[in-house]
Amino acid sequence: MNATLIDSLRVTSGGSLSFALGLTLLAGLFMWLALEIFRSGRRVLAENQQQRIALEKLRAQLAETKLRCREAEQAQTGWNGIRKFAVVKKVFQCDDVNAFYLKPHDGRPLPQFKPGQYLTFQLDLPGRDKSLIRCYSLSDSPHQKDYYRVTIKKEKSPADKPELPTGAGSSFFTDVVKEGDILNVKAPTGHFFLDMAKLNPIVLLAGGVGITPMLSMANAIAAGGSKREAYFFFGVRNRREHIHKEELEKLAAEHDNIHLHIAYSKPGEKDVKEKDFHHEGRVDIELLKAVLPSNNFEYYLCGSGAFMKSLTDGLEAWGVPDKDVYFEAFGPATVKKKATVPTQAETTHLQKVMVTFARSNKTVRWEPIAENLLEFAKSQGVKIDSGCCAGGCGSCSVAIKSGAVTYLKKPDATPEAGSCFTCVCRPKNDLILDA
Ligand SMILES: Cc1cc2nc3c(=O)[nH]c(=O)nc-3n(C[C@H](O)[C@H](O)[C@H](O)COP(=O)(O)OP(=O)(O)OC[C@H]3O[C@@H](n4cnc5c(N)ncnc54)[C@H](O)[C@@H]3O)c2cc1C
Repeated sequence: MNATLIDSLRVTSGGSLSFALGLTLLAGLFMWLALEIFRSGRRVLAENQQQRIALEKLRAQLAETKLRCREAEQAQTGWNGIRKFAVVKKVFQCDDVNAFYLKPHDGRPLPQFKPGQYLTFQLDLPGRDKSLIRCYSLSDSPHQKDYYRVTIKKEKSPADKPELPTGAGSSFFTDVVKEGDILNVKAPTGHFFLDMAKLNPIVLLAGGVGITPMLSMANAIAAGGSKREAYFFFGVRNRREHIHKEELEKLAAEHDNIHLHIAYSKPGEKDVKEKDFHHEGRVDIELLKAVLPSNNFEYYLCGSGAFMKSLTDGLEAWGVPDKDVYFEAFGPATVKKKATVPTQAETTHLQKVMVTFARSNKTVRWEPIAENLLEFAKSQGVKIDSGCCAGGCGSCSVAIKSGAVTYLKKPDATPEAGSCFTCVCRPKNDLILDA
């Protein structure tokens, strides 16, 4: 072998060595890469799985939160339809007036109500084929978590017609309902309430059983520890009608910011001034002027038609703006907010409006002086059921076949689509009702 051949062989064997080395390196690199890809794949898979688990957890948490929110919302806003309540206590107050303490039969929490709101009862009275719907204001503080309380006065027969029966619903409560009974109740509702977020001074004006929403308001102020100034005027004939007497006296004695003024229009022989009552006479504007430091308050009223008319007129004459006067009527409203009185142009238009009661086969011209569609129907001999006369209980709901209505006040409940609560509306234009 010559030197050139030996040299070339050396080069060849050196080249295949480096080639083998390179191949090994490359294979190692591939393996490392494959391992890395495998590892990161596994990591990604594991991360994905973790993320899926976390997402599922989150979804479950979200569903749980939604449920809690719904429960909380329900606890705030009440329940749909009827809920059964047991009468746990019935406490005689004074002549023909009893307080009823109610607890939910299902034992679940009570939704918080606003002081001034009312409950609607669906009463199954013996001998009646249809339930009777009646509304009663909650009379205790919304801070009371254990029970609802309503205070009910038995409605007497009209003075000029003593032969007529006493009030059906209130007599049932007074004479028939007893502790342990179960009642059908709709959730608290109503637009007449005290805004507890505000701190401005208020005047509560109550006549007779109209005290119930006011007592709830005063109790709410006291139980919430609020220092909100409240002048509380309550007018009755005498001690025999003095509803929740001890509770009112305790409230005023324990809370400097609640100034109680009881007025007896016909004090009994044994009624003692400064002990049982503070003023002889009615709660009227003169009394307010004598007691209040100024007229600069928000006023809340509930009482008979005459009571509310005299006070709203008096407050207006005293310069209290309409926006500072709030009232609740326990029957057909005798006092109207100015906004609901038709203008001259509206009256002229309303004089031409025709109302058809389709089922009764009757078409009549609307009378602009008519209070509302319910009263108008009655005056035309058309029978429509009624209950609260405040747009809350839905008893007077009637389907509108054509036309539209104007609400005189915002109904406390929402009428079904295509229907109207006849007790709180009048026609907007020609109207055909399914009545
Ligand atoms: C929002 C709201 C809250 C209320 N809160 C309270 C409250 O806290 N406490 C309370 O006691 N009340 C309250 N009421 C009033 C209550 O709802 C009832 O209207 C009241 O109890 C009378 O109902 P009733 O079924 O007993 O009388 P109804 O049977 O409706 O009778 C009413 C009157 O008509 C007379 N009458 C009976 N038959 C006839 C006839 N054929 N012709 C003419 N008249 C007749 C009766 O003798 C009675 O005087 C509230 C009302 C509303 C709208």
